[in-house]
Amino acid sequence: MSAYDDNNIFAKILRGEIPCTKVFEDDHTLAFEDIEPQARVHVLVIPKGSYVSMTDFVEQASDAEMAALNRAVLKVVEAKDLKERGYRVLSNVGEEGGQLVPHLHIHVFGGQPLGPMLG
Ligand code: AMP
Repeated sequence: MSAYDDNNIFAKILRGEIPCTKVFEDDHTLAFEDIEPQARVHVLVIPKGSYVSMTDFVEQASDAEMAALNRAVLKVVEAKDLKERGYRVLSNVGEEGGQLVPHLHIHVFGGQPLGPMLG
């Protein structure tokens, strides 16, 4: 796995160098609207710590960070009123997983029927 790149776009968002439309924030996580939404609801949930991917996160993160990330997903689900309707949670990892930004992010999709899992 490559080393964490401090200049990736989500690191810049976390440092406040690039704006985002915030949905939720706590000590360990930030959730914001995806800039190119692929569903009516498309929010990204990221840890504030420097983790390249889900693999890196699960290997290195503290229990508190892991709990916070999962709870942040639920906060987004509640904020977007998806709990009863249903939604999709997805994290792309690495080249074959289609990960473009090398800072762990969890996509939360919803607000419409989402169709088959892989397009
Ligand atoms: P992935 O392919 O899983 O790495 O997805 C990266 C996601 O980041 C894409 O859905 C992009 O639309 C989104 N994205 C890229 N730049 C920004 C940004 N500045 N603000 C919000 N979302 C972004």
